[in-house]
Amino acid sequence: MGKRPSEFHLKQLLADCASDLGLECLGITSAVPFLRAEQVAIERLDKGLMGILPWYTQERVRRGTHPEELLSGARSIISIAVNYLPETGEGIVGCRGGIMTRTKGRVARYAWGRDYHNVLKKRLRHLMQRFGEISGLAFRFKVYVDDGPMIDREVAWRAGVGFYGKNTNVLTGIGSWVLLGQVITDLDLEHDQPNDKSCGTCVACIPACPTGAIVDPYVIDSNRCISYLTIENRGEIAPELRPLLGDWVFGCDICQEVCPVNKVREIITNESAFNPEEPARALDLGEILEFDEDQFREKFRGSPIRRATLIGLQRNACVVLGNSGDRNVVPLLVKALNMDASMVRRHAAWALGRLGGEAAFKALADAWENEPDDLVVNEIRLAFHQEDNASGRELTG
Ligand code: SF4
Repeated sequence: MGKRPSEFHLKQLLADCASDLGLECLGITSAVPFLRAEQVAIERLDKGLMGILPWYTQERVRRGTHPEELLSGARSIISIAVNYLPETGEGIVGCRGGIMTRTKGRVARYAWGRDYHNVLKKRLRHLMQRFGEISGLAFRFKVYVDDGPMIDREVAWRAGVGFYGKNTNVLTGIGSWVLLGQVITDLDLEHDQPNDKSCGTCVACIPACPTGAIVDPYVIDSNRCISYLTIENRGEIAPELRPLLGDWVFGCDICQEVCPVNKVREIITNESAFNPEEPARALDLGEILEFDEDQFREKFRGSPIRRATLIGLQRNACVVLGNSGDRNVVPLLVKALNMDASMVRRHAAWALGRLGGEAAFKALADAWENEPDDLVVNEIRLAFHQEDNASGRELTG
């Protein structure tokens, strides 16, 4: 009977298989509970910093920090990070200027291409299959890519793949434009040491955040973070935050754009799924407001943008149009003010009030006459009192 390869050799074999499959950063940690992360996550929940995510419960945190509960007999967790930085043609920060028109909304880079969940999960399963064939070992495993309770950033940190930036992203050897995946397995593999680097005295991301969501180093208040507000949030966007969204219609990259580590290591991904020929770098807001559910599903089939839901994306589109400063977009918002979803009507009313002008106020007054939803009525009332545009106008009736 052949001798079982040592843990060290298994790790090397795994790293070789990963590299053949284009998985750039790989680390391994043990499956002992992540008690520090559990405590931090529960504190965040208790303080209400997670926004409103009905599925994000204490029970979920507990399961996600106790790997044995996700795979009985778990011994090791393999952590991988894959670069998704797409080509902008203008450098990371350069693409902030010039490409947008008033009717386009910006999309966070991770969503310019195909849905990373499917791409990476397939790749990780392939990795384990290949590793099993070459090593001749039998083992059990479970794969996670941002789709289960696994606390991916803490795994990456403890497996030595990267360290936490003050914006809470994991900074790897290729920066933070990475997607994280994990494989829990019952295999005994040699473990890596946690990454002991830090961003030192740098605080570039904190004042750069337009909404002040980085409330302390390493602490994000999701209720203020544009990524949460435009993707996971199913409710309204608070009126005081709407102007701060700027032209972000899906996600936000600002705290990564300003990070000096990312500026030094501007490495474009080799992965065509994340760097497509026709990237979804900007969405046509007029088109979004025209979509029905079928058209929305068809347009964003296989794209992470579907996560925002049609109503969420239309709500965001109204806010971005309101921030455009261009009264030529008023007809788009007037249409939105008459759409079925009251969530969209509310944000359209706000946007019209922000833009102001005869056509906007006429549409608001007309809508006010027949609006059945009190929350929309209130938004219309407030729209007439928005500082710069109200000019003493009053609703009558
Ligand atoms: Fe702030 Fe945008 Fe970073 Fe969220 S993603 S913390 S809004 S800079």
